Amino acid sequence: SIHHLEYPSSPATMDWSTHYPTFFDAPKVEGEGSGVGKGKKVEFADVGCGFGGLLISLAPLYPETLMMGLEIRTQVTQYVSDKIRALRLNPGSVDPDNPEEPLITTTDPLPSELAAAGSEQPPAKKAKVDDEAARTRLALQPPEGYAYGNVSVLRGNAMKFLPNFFDKAQLSKIFFLFPDPHFKARKHKARIISPTLLAEYAYVLRPGGLLYTITDVPDLHTWMVSHLEPFPLFKRLTEEEIDNLGLESGEGVVGVEGSELGRDRERAVMEAVKRRTEEGKKVERNGVGKQWSVWRRLSDDEV
Ligand code: SAM
Repeated sequence: SIHHLEYPSSPATMDWSTHYPTFFDAPKVEGEGSGVGKGKKVEFADVGCGFGGLLISLAPLYPETLMMGLEIRTQVTQYVSDKIRALRLNPGSVDPDNPEEPLITTTDPLPSELAAAGSEQPPAKKAKVDDEAARTRLALQPPEGYAYGNVSVLRGNAMKFLPNFFDKAQLSKIFFLFPDPHFKARKHKARIISPTLLAEYAYVLRPGGLLYTITDVPDLHTWMVSHLEPFPLFKRLTEEEIDNLGLESGEGVVGVEGSELGRDRERAVMEAVKRRTEEGKKVERNGVGKQWSVWRRLSDDEV
């Protein structure tokens, strides 16, 4: 069905079981939505997801969080959909062209691994640090049997139909990673960040939720920032605030919020934003610079 641009009239009329069969039952009546009464909703949206590198990297880090890529190109959407299907059938498989380190980059061996290898325990002073690193690694490991059930992709024009798929304040993260630059001035209206669209993004993001942008095109970065900056519902985070994301609990923050684990996971998200999308990797290979920004969706009484 991803070959057709089919838009539900509202999120509740959508059959989410086709995307997340392990989280939703198929509707009892054909043609009826599965979106109501299940308590589970998509929380991360990757707008213009391309080949899906971001969400496929993030999915095991947030095994209980539903995430959706939106992509306008049919073949690209099909590619991502096939890739997710293959991962679901064989979750341990590694793409031979694309072998990747886990996003949580702690490489310290676990105490059990040291024991298995017959190594000595690390000296007492270092042991504490190693324990912490090991705990991070273990705690952010997906559960036994994890099989990419929380990630999917939709073909659609995100500039037109976002509120058909997502309710008000449903999302905790929305990503705009290496969006098409549309260089010519007369094409600027096709850019994915614009005053009208920002109102839509603010509508689907919950207070405390985060909007991410990254690009290798300086003019596009300036454009996105210059539209986001004056928009009252978004506040830009400083680099220090980005680095400490996840340490504080609050609305919009999911999972192990309010702990160093939460921070490690948010740092992994930024790492994926910068380096795990296909476009991000290409830019990296070409040695071109990247500029990013992260914005918090304010609550109405903060405005
Ligand atoms: N985010 C991906 C990455 O970093 O690898 C893809 C970047 S690519 C330069 C931009 C993508 O946005 C393309 O795959 C394009 O088809 C998609 N796109 C452009 N306009 C869109 C729209 N209105 N709705 C959904 N996707 C769109």
